[in-house]
Amino acid sequence: MKRIIKEGIALFEVESNDKKVREIVENVLEEVKNGGDAAVRSLSEKFDKWSPASFLLSKETIEEIISGVPEQVLEDIRFAQTQVRNFAQHQKNSMHDIEVETLPGVFLGHRNVPVNSVGCYIPGGRYPMVASAHMSVLTAKVAGVKRVIACTPPINGQIPAATVAAMYMAGADEIYLLGGIQAIAAMGIGTETIESVDMIVGPGNSYVAEAKRQLFGKIGIDLLAGPTETLVIADETSDAEICAVDLLGQAEHGPTSPSILLTNSEKLAYETLAEVERQLKTLPTADVASISWRDYGQIILVDTIDEMVAEADRIASEHVQVMTADPRYFLKHMTNFGALFLGKYTNVAYGDKVIGTNHTLPTKHGAKYTGGLWVGKFMKTCSYQEIRTPEASAMIGEYCSRLCAIENFWGHKEQADIRVRRYGAKEVSQ
Ligand code: NAD
Repeated sequence: MKRIIKEGIALFEVESNDKKVREIVENVLEEVKNGGDAAVRSLSEKFDKWSPASFLLSKETIEEIISGVPEQVLEDIRFAQTQVRNFAQHQKNSMHDIEVETLPGVFLGHRNVPVNSVGCYIPGGRYPMVASAHMSVLTAKVAGVKRVIACTPPINGQIPAATVAAMYMAGADEIYLLGGIQAIAAMGIGTETIESVDMIVGPGNSYVAEAKRQLFGKIGIDLLAGPTETLVIADETSDAEICAVDLLGQAEHGPTSPSILLTNSEKLAYETLAEVERQLKTLPTADVASISWRDYGQIILVDTIDEMVAEADRIASEHVQVMTADPRYFLKHMTNFGALFLGKYTNVAYGDKVIGTNHTLPTKHGAKYTGGLWVGKFMKTCSYQEIRTPEASAMIGEYCSRLCAIENFWGHKEQADIRVRRYGAKEVSQ
C-alpha cells in the first residue's frame, strides 16, 4: 500500500504554468521569424541584458577566453570529454548498417546517416553548464555531424569561460553567446547571420524546452530535456544522510526541479525528511533547493520492492538513483527511466558531469517513450531496397498489384502490373 510521507506537486499538475510559457515562446518565435537578427538582439537585451557587437565568437576571442581558464579546469574538462567520447564511440560502433536478402533476389537494407547540421543549446542562465557542451557537441561530432553550432547565454552579463572552452574543445564549428528562446529561434528559424540547422539538441529551462517543442516539425529535436528531476529509490540498507544529499544535489537545479524519495522503509522515510531540513541549513544553494524541495519534493512509502518498481515506472523520472540491497533488480524490471544510477558508489552528479553517459535526458514523463541523447539521436536510419532478378520483380509485383486494387490505388497497381507483364511475361492473376 502506498503512503505519502511528504507531499509535493506532482509533475502532472504544472499545466497552468506551461500555458504561460507556451504563449511567451509563441510570441518570441514569431518575433524572430519576422525580425531576424534585429529581433534576436532586442530579445537578448530584454531577457539577458546582453547585446554585444557580435553574438558569434571569433577564433581569436575564443582563444583569448580560454587563456584565462585555469589549467586544472581545462584538464578536468579534457578528462570528462575523454569519458563521454569513449562511451559515445562504443555506442556508435554498436550501430550497424544492414542489408539482407529477404526473398531470392530481394535485398532490403538500412544505412545510418548522420544529420548534416545541428544546433546545440548549452544552458547557463543559473549555472555555467560546462558538461552540456560535452554531451551535445562532442556526441554530435562522434556521430559524424558536419556542422555543429552551439549557443550558451552569458551569466549575469559575464562570458562563461569554462563553458566556451568546453564547447571549443568538443569541436563546435560556431559558438554564439546567446541564450533562451532567442537562441533556439535563431538556430531553428535562421537569421541574416545565423544559418538555420536541421536539428536542435540539448537541455534547458522550461522556455528552452518549449521553444524546441514548438519548432519540432520544421526542424528535428532530440527530446524534451527540461528542468531536472530525480528519484531516489532506497531501502533499509541505505542511510538518510546519503539519501538527503542525493535529493538536494538535484533539487538545487531550479525551483521547479522535483526530487522524490521512494522507499519501503518507514524509518528511512522519516529520517530522510529530518535530514533534508538539517542539510538545507548549510547547503550554499539552499535558496533554490529549499523552494523546489518545499513545492516539488516528495517522500513515498510502499511495502515491497515490486511496488517500488511499479511506482518508479509510473513516475518515469529523468534520473533514478537506486540504493537497495539489489540495485540490478531495478535495471532488470524497470521500463521507464531516463538514466539509472545503480548502487551507493555512484550518483547522479557523476553522470551529470564526468562518467561518460549522456546527461541530456527526458523529463516530464518523456522516459515513457524515449531514452536520453546519444549518438543514435543524431543518425537517421534510412532504408533502401533493390530487386536483382526479373523473376523476383514479377513475383512481388503480383502480390503488390492485388493489394493496390483493394485500396483503389490504380496508379500504384500499374507500377506493379507493368513489371509483371515485362519481367514475368504474364498478366496479374486476380
Ligand atoms: P537556460 O540556459 O536554460 O535558460 C536561461 C535563459 O532563459 C536566459 O538566457 C533567458 O534568455 C531565458 N529566460 C529566463 N527567464 C525568462 C523569461 N521570463 N522569459 C523568457 N525567457 C527567459 O538556463 P537555466 O535557466 O539555468 O536552466 C537550465 C535548466 O536546464 C535547468 O532547469 C536544469 O535543470 C536543466 N537541465 C536539464 C537537463 C536534462 O537533461 N533534462 C540537463 C541539464 C540541465
